Amino acid sequence: MALVLFKRVCPLYPLLAFMYNTPMKENKFKPQEIMFSPTTRCNLRCVHCGTEQTGKPLPKKTALNFLDACNKFGIKRVGFTGGEPFYALDFLCLISKEGVRRGMFFDHIITNAVWFKTKKELYSVLNQLFLCGYDGRFFVSVDAFHNQDLRKVASFIKVASQIWTLPNIVSISSVKGTRERETRTKLKKLADLLEARFTGLTSQKASIRNKDFLINIFSFNLSPVGKAVRLKNPWDGKWFEDDFCKGPGHIFFVLSDQTVKPCCGYAHEADILTIGSIKRDSPQQLLLNAKQNRFVSTVFESGLHAIRKQLESSGIRFPGKTTNHCFFCYYLTHHIPRPLLNSCLEKVHKKS
Ligand code: SF4
Ligand code: SF4
Repeated sequence: MALVLFKRVCPLYPLLAFMYNTPMKENKFKPQEIMFSPTTRCNLRCVHCGTEQTGKPLPKKTALNFLDACNKFGIKRVGFTGGEPFYALDFLCLISKEGVRRGMFFDHIITNAVWFKTKKELYSVLNQLFLCGYDGRFFVSVDAFHNQDLRKVASFIKVASQIWTLPNIVSISSVKGTRERETRTKLKKLADLLEARFTGLTSQKASIRNKDFLINIFSFNLSPVGKAVRLKNPWDGKWFEDDFCKGPGHIFFVLSDQTVKPCCGYAHEADILTIGSIKRDSPQQLLLNAKQNRFVSTVFESGLHAIRKQLESSGIRFPGKTTNHCFFCYYLTHHIPRPLLNSCLEKVHKKS
């Protein structure tokens, strides 16, 4: 129930662009938001999911200290992903309360929307979150890959809209480009359950709407990284246009093991993208670490194409071209021998 869910995700780009919609003018890592992943636990087992559901929960006290430090540092926006973040309700409530107390605001909770057993539990949990001051939105993933009970998704949408009294409190993120017919069928069924109209996935303004709901649908390509690498050919014949990480990048993404990444893009779990830990690093220190991390600083300051060109001039031949820059980032971190990658990064750095 993930990040991410953000041009917004790499294939998550349409979603991420929506979530992180401040245009970045400078080519440097400049985090705009903290995104917490308080737990890796999830009630689903999606075939494309890259989250190992084995980790310990993110300690609340450490997260709270980090929230405080980020607030003082000027980062005011907070989001949550998982696993399924509603399995960490105490965490969501604490950070919501304390965020509100500090004048911070919320972006999204990314959820599968089917984590509850009864409607009573659903109402009670969402109401608790509302009373804690959470005033962000919800991103619910609905597509061929998320095997949810759509009646539960419809209940989640109805109850959330009722509690927050907002017709657009929920948006949907959907994978496109593969198994689209199944995805469309599910969205149509969800619209029927809500007695609403589904405008269609091909439209830029896809939505499910009636007089009570306005549920925007954001579609993005499946990012073929991790387990999803077998679900789609990542080398789709064209190089990505987006070079710098303007969408899914520029956040402090805090994983449940307390490590921090500069993005929630699909390759973020690679060790090379670690910029520190909230156990020991202040936001200032994380920025310094990001600057000193040659991979992160090169991706954010020189761009992925500069790395690609340098590797090609060193004799690397890629299997094809890809439109997905997070896949390319994943490929670099998993398939290019680290000494060669490091030496190319140094050359790119010297040229810049
Ligand atoms: S809902 Fe699916 S993709 Fe999201 S964390 Fe759970 S298993 Fe992974
Ligand atoms: S750093 Fe890599 S994984 Fe993260 S957003 Fe940029 S391209 Fe994607």
